[in-house]
Amino acid sequence: MIPFRDTYRDIPLYSPAKKPCRVDLSDNTNLFGPPPSAERVLREEGLQRLSRYPASYAPDLKRAVAAYAGVAVENVTTGCGSDDVIDCALRAFLEPGDAVAYPDPTFVMVPLFARLSALPPVPVPLKADHDVDVDGLLATGAKLIYVCTPNNPTGTVASRAALERLVDRAPGVVLIDQAYVEFAKGGDFMDLARTRPNVLVTRTMSKAFGLAGMRVGWGVGAPELVAEVEKARGPYKHTALGEAVAIAALTDDVPWMEACVAEAVENRERLRGGLKALGLEPLPSEGNFLLVPVPEARRVGEAMRERNVNVRVFERLPGVGDALRIGCGPWPLMASALKALKEVL
Ligand code: PMP
Repeated sequence: MIPFRDTYRDIPLYSPAKKPCRVDLSDNTNLFGPPPSAERVLREEGLQRLSRYPASYAPDLKRAVAAYAGVAVENVTTGCGSDDVIDCALRAFLEPGDAVAYPDPTFVMVPLFARLSALPPVPVPLKADHDVDVDGLLATGAKLIYVCTPNNPTGTVASRAALERLVDRAPGVVLIDQAYVEFAKGGDFMDLARTRPNVLVTRTMSKAFGLAGMRVGWGVGAPELVAEVEKARGPYKHTALGEAVAIAALTDDVPWMEACVAEAVENRERLRGGLKALGLEPLPSEGNFLLVPVPEARRVGEAMRERNVNVRVFERLPGVGDALRIGCGPWPLMASALKALKEVL
């Protein structure tokens, strides 16, 4: 017997149900497609970039992120998706055995990343009003507290009062995952990343910017904090192409991104109306998705997939129960989801 790691024995692979469907609303990506500049970059620079390594710690991408986020280059780290920035931060700030605390429910990868680094995950239920339970999170004593806002999968947001109190009192780093912040009405915590010594805000090119396939994410924090994450990250985490496409999008396609966001948000609220007409009660959302409690969500999700619509199924979510998470984009896709759901119900 090869002596594999004890802590890895029960770790599953991440595997959301993914039967190919004509309408895929399961992963909260930009359903309007990739940003316009991507085609030009791939055409003009694609081949010539393939044979050489990119610069080791992505200085050009960091400059583009810094300009977009209104921070200094020294405040920025980047990674292979924001998944990677989160994973690196856990490794950078914690020793094996240290706890990672987070509101529950939240992004499913966080407890998984914790376990991959032998860090016990400590869930703390969201409050009934969907805000974070600051005292509950602090009571864990965890040296890293993760908060996602807008939160995946609920779409709900953490209040500024709660987050500021958490950041003031936390014994270690507070990682604020803002993968969906472009879709929110305010609730941007970049100012805390700029001014506090213990805040890392993570962001991504995968959602509003339509580049999930390129795997580019970034984080902002104090220079000393970010330098530790860069150690855990190591060099060459991006492809040269991913970097070039992300730089072009951040530089040239912000108005395009904002137009996609506006339409996704408008259609999210129109979808909410359609779901309410079916007698359902979606949670308040500031992301590009709605979480709608539905009994027997697994059966309903499978029946929707048979109708060529893929939505994300959640079972027994704390405080919510069974639910479907429906990504929002062009209205014809939303109409397909509503039609399928109506037939199934
Ligand atoms: N954070 C949240 C809350 C997410 O939902 C996701 C994607 N599902 C990520 C981070 C990771 O995205 P990426 O690695 O593509 O940047």
